[in-house]
Amino acid sequence: MNMLAQWNGITDNIIVHLLTSLIYIIGANFVFDMQLSVGSVFAFITYSAYVTGTISAILNIGYLLSGIIPSTKRYYEFMALEEEKENEEGMTEPCFGDLELQNLSFSYEKDKAVLSDINIAFPKGSKTVLIGRNGSGKSTLISLLLQLYQPTGGKITLNGIDISEFVLREYRNMISVVSQEIYLFNSSIRDNICMYKNIDDKTIMEACKDSGLADFISEVSLDYVVGQNGAMLSEGQKQKIALARALVHNSPVIIFDEATSNTDVYSEHQINGLLHTKLKEKTVIIITHKQEILKEADQIIMLKDGAVVGSGVYDDLSKDNLEFKNMLNMGEKY
Ligand code: ADP
Repeated sequence: MNMLAQWNGITDNIIVHLLTSLIYIIGANFVFDMQLSVGSVFAFITYSAYVTGTISAILNIGYLLSGIIPSTKRYYEFMALEEEKENEEGMTEPCFGDLELQNLSFSYEKDKAVLSDINIAFPKGSKTVLIGRNGSGKSTLISLLLQLYQPTGGKITLNGIDISEFVLREYRNMISVVSQEIYLFNSSIRDNICMYKNIDDKTIMEACKDSGLADFISEVSLDYVVGQNGAMLSEGQKQKIALARALVHNSPVIIFDEATSNTDVYSEHQINGLLHTKLKEKTVIIITHKQEILKEADQIIMLKDGAVVGSGVYDDLSKDNLEFKNMLNMGEKY
């Protein structure tokens, strides 16, 4: 746009000045021939601005459209996106229980499988850690659990019922996700934690204490405005708000996705402490390579190139599973 603005300004100026110079030259000739008075020439030049102004406006059309056309295209692309179906008639209300992935396959593009034939059971109240290299399909698996995409093969069941049969809103209400990419509204910490729910300050403060945000709250307050998408906060503080948000909503399933984390967002201690207390009854799925959390997990699922290449508990895997050791040693790079 800047380049176009420069180009537009230059051509505009050249044309207007050329035209004005031309009129001066022709006008001067008429004055020398005594056919026009000097006053008439100046009056003509003044009125000619109406013509040059119009020419310049026509030249500007291209420049204006160059800004509008991409936005319009984007707008129509967005409007053409398929809407999520929220058909509630005849659909089942979900009930917290065992989650299971059965022969699950998925591909974003045709003939390029991202997940193939995945079988994982997440029993009610279990703690599962997913590990695997970047691109092994961990986040895709979470997206499928949240029904952001539909599987291309196999199914996901909750209490034996295919999750696509549940009222989507109710099903998603059962799951809280604490991910790396958190959206915060330009509002108070309280609003960002409660979202649309009415929750008393005592519960909020308890969640803040559990998420490690309490120290910060005691410095500011729950009414501290976090700025556009949390601009006034550090990444760690944003993460803690997301964790507090998940805790106050008390969903039976909690997913921690820190697949791309390079920072020590939540300490292992904090999460481990919660796993045995606040999250004891909940089904927890964590994407992490932190050993302390891995040690506490009921099961560790190893993903590689969209397939499960191993599973078990830390003690067994760390003894004789070479792939597991490799994954852990390379954890930092994942
Ligand atoms: P992980 O979370 O283990 O790093 P992902 O689930 O994000 O892995 O990605 C798995 C594979 O799917 C990668 O090869 C990635 O390039 C591809 N992928 C992820 N998201 C998309 C998308 N929206 N469209 C197309 N391909 C995608």
